[in-house]
Amino acid sequence: MEEPKRVKPYVKPEGERWGLLLVYTGDGKGKSTAAFGLALRAHGRGLNVRIFQFLKHQGARFGEHRALARLGIPIEGLGDGFTWKSRDLKASKALAQEGWERAKKAILSGEWDLVVLDEATYPLRYGWVSLEEFVDVLKHRPSHVHVVVTGRLAPGALLDVADTVTEMRKVKHAFDQGVPAQRGIEH
Ligand code: ATP
Ligand code: MG
Repeated sequence: MEEPKRVKPYVKPEGERWGLLLVYTGDGKGKSTAAFGLALRAHGRGLNVRIFQFLKHQGARFGEHRALARLGIPIEGLGDGFTWKSRDLKASKALAQEGWERAKKAILSGEWDLVVLDEATYPLRYGWVSLEEFVDVLKHRPSHVHVVVTGRLAPGALLDVADTVTEMRKVKHAFDQGVPAQRGIEH
């Protein structure tokens, strides 16, 4: 007997979709690039993907920015290229707080199926963004929205509400052998 032909593509009812919270943390390399890899996969499946990068300069043009722009995946920097050496911590803090407001709106709107919050653990660690509010927003987001958070030292309260947590552990890093950051690999 011939297999019956499907007349319509199967669309899962809204209630069946399960938005996951994924956290990539730890001191090894690969957290942000894993998040971009997931963004690529989700984009391939027709999900609406949006990426926010805490601390990164708004005008950053690293490899990921160039590639994601070609795919039409919005990626925005929410910082000023902050390092501990940067002069104006107040400005970095204000940018992170404004950035969080933008990210929060995007998550709660339900318009984006996957929202990546790259390096979001740092503003939480520095106390620039309230951990309590951050966790609260993630808990109360629309049920279909997937969120990825990356960054070292993810707070326990975030891990508690996450569905999938991966810790990248440094076994070796070329940087420790004196190899400088390589274009296309590190940025
Ligand atoms: P990637 O962006 O390559 O996925 P990551 O997100 O895991 O790395 P971060 O902690 O965000 O790494 O660090 C940002 C930069 O520091 C990246 O250029 C990364 O390659 C580099 N880096 C990551 N881990 C280490 C390490 N253990 N020692 C030195 N540099 C590192
Ligand atoms: Mg990173």
